[in-house]
Amino acid sequence: MPKSPYTLRPIDDQTTAIEEKCLGFQCLCYLLTGESHALLIDTGFGLGDLAALARTLTDKPVWVANTHAHVDHIGCNHLFDGFFLSSAEEGVLRLHRNPEYLWQKFAVEIPLPLRLLLRPILDRLFSPKALGQKNYIDDGYVFDLGNRCIEVIATPGHSPGCLCFLDRERRFLFTGDSLCDWGVLLNLEYSMPVEVYGASLERLYELAGAYDSIYPGHHGFPVSRDRLEEYRSCVRGILDGTIPLKPYEKGAALRASRGQVLIALPGDYRRGGADA
Ligand SMILES: [Zn+2]
Repeated sequence: MPKSPYTLRPIDDQTTAIEEKCLGFQCLCYLLTGESHALLIDTGFGLGDLAALARTLTDKPVWVANTHAHVDHIGCNHLFDGFFLSSAEEGVLRLHRNPEYLWQKFAVEIPLPLRLLLRPILDRLFSPKALGQKNYIDDGYVFDLGNRCIEVIATPGHSPGCLCFLDRERRFLFTGDSLCDWGVLLNLEYSMPVEVYGASLERLYELAGAYDSIYPGHHGFPVSRDRLEEYRSCVRGILDGTIPLKPYEKGAALRASRGQVLIALPGDYRRGGADA
């Protein structure tokens, strides 16, 4: 029997982080339970049966909500009756269910011998699956799980319909790829201008009195509150030109760094405003 890609990392008695790890990928999903429903935030890359795992954790009906529609956040959506996401993710969802795009984007990075070995797994992961009911949610929507409410906060930037989820009572914020420990990619198809991401950070800053712990879509958790300030400072430095832009990875993009975080920008990024 193949080893499960999932590791459970309990946060409290009604909140579990589910870490998916395989082939160098790492994703974090979160199962939040209330008295009548559970909410699964993101479904990872799809390497295992997340629906079966969720059933071992709760007997309540599970709602699935995606922070955004990138392939490593929607991988097990098809195993549930339906899912919730922002309508602004429609284009991203279409792209990230397109096998040709996914092969080009991800598989070509893998060295050829390994790629051939992994071909059956990648074919399975990238093949479009029939999805259940798609429901659109936006800023201000509230999931009532029964004595536990989870509020949707729109944070466009990394992708146009990025959402965060706020549990005011427990003071948890789930951020997907909008606020991870190491950086944010604004250089992807459909990524929004850095000004838009900056406005989303300001929104999270205004809400900072409502949460203590930040749970991201990748890497370690909780994310230090210092990171939010570093991202804000990095955006300001990009916009006013005080932070130098350096080549990022293979030169197709640029990066700016501040503290421990980096922001990746499109390779043709030019500073906007009067002195552009
Ligand atoms: Zn993403």
